[in-house]
Amino acid sequence: MYYAQIRKFDTANGTGIRSSLFVSGCTHCCEGCFNQDYKHFRYGHPWTKDVEDQFINHLTNPNVHGVTILGGEPMDQVRDNDLLNLVQRIKEETKQNIWIYSGYTFEEIMAHPKTRAILMHCDVLVDGPFVENLKNLKLRFRGSSNQRIIDIQKSLQEGQVCVLENY
Ligand code: SF4
Repeated sequence: MYYAQIRKFDTANGTGIRSSLFVSGCTHCCEGCFNQDYKHFRYGHPWTKDVEDQFINHLTNPNVHGVTILGGEPMDQVRDNDLLNLVQRIKEETKQNIWIYSGYTFEEIMAHPKTRAILMHCDVLVDGPFVENLKNLKLRFRGSSNQRIIDIQKSLQEGQVCVLENY
């Protein structure tokens, strides 16, 4: 896996002060894509063991309230196990809550074993593609009104999509 950037303290992509990881690579072709460079799977920097250890260590900072993973397309990170290993480590070693953004819908992610495995370690999914003609600047944490902010664990328990309340 390659990554484009890490924002150690980010307030734009989820609740509270979060650490955000922008992974590289995306197979979607959204009109009005805001991150053309991030679509390339080898853009940025390789995700090494050292980088991962430093990231995990940073998450123990008491000022960090959670992790957000976005891109690019996190759910296209299926060529290796780097992202799956990372979300497992975050849960085992830090207990931080994880928001993940994807251009795929919850249902599409659940249909494939590898993306489902990544999802199951996360807490909140902002799903669906950015749609230019549904763009709404008043929405929090998402760009267009088709995108849903989903409580993943509640959705898994109830067997249906549950949107996050009170965020
Ligand atoms: S999912 Fe994001 S990175 Fe991929 S094409 Fe759409 S806007 Fe661009």
